[in-house]
Amino acid sequence: MKLSPIALGLALLPLGLSAQAQLGVHEHGHGQLNLALEQQHLVLELTAPAADIVGFEHEAATDAERAQQAAALEKIRQADALFTLTPAAACRLEKVELAGDEHDDHDHDQHDEHKHDDHDQHAHGDDHDDHDHSDVQVHYFYHCEQPQALNRIELSLFEQFPSFNRLEVQGILPSGQVAATLTPAQPQLSW
Ligand SMILES: [Zn+2]
Repeated sequence: MKLSPIALGLALLPLGLSAQAQLGVHEHGHGQLNLALEQQHLVLELTAPAADIVGFEHEAATDAERAQQAAALEKIRQADALFTLTPAAACRLEKVELAGDEHDDHDHDQHDEHKHDDHDQHAHGDDHDDHDHSDVQVHYFYHCEQPQALNRIELSLFEQFPSFNRLEVQGILPSGQVAATLTPAQPQLSW
């Protein structure tokens, strides 16, 4: 059976909407940390709502907001103050990359192209603000002298960014996969 273009459009609509909802709405206080160890290379990928890192999610509009944002993004680069790895693994931070810059003009262009549906979705699905959500994503690259000794990560992230209260951690290690939900009361993961 051939679907007419109109029928096809209607059939795809619900999927499109749910995908938008997933992309557009995160939960403040909650982030993700992906950890991957391959040979001597360890990468941590942190994704967190800008609300928890910077303190707001709109484009910095004043000097005070720009200063606040710059200070927060500098703070999130300080991996040693956020993560403690098994000392015996001798992991040394080599590079930090900040991605998902929420103040990129490209994001705004994309947003402008969104349909009215997007607005409706936000009105119903967003319980705190009428602006877009934005995330901060950071990649931390380590070189570990003794990667086989790496068996634990402890977060000081919750102390550095107090509105944070849950981090979903997923790790891919030579020995297999690990996953855990870390909180201020349970900020470490061992494997
Ligand atoms: Zn948000």
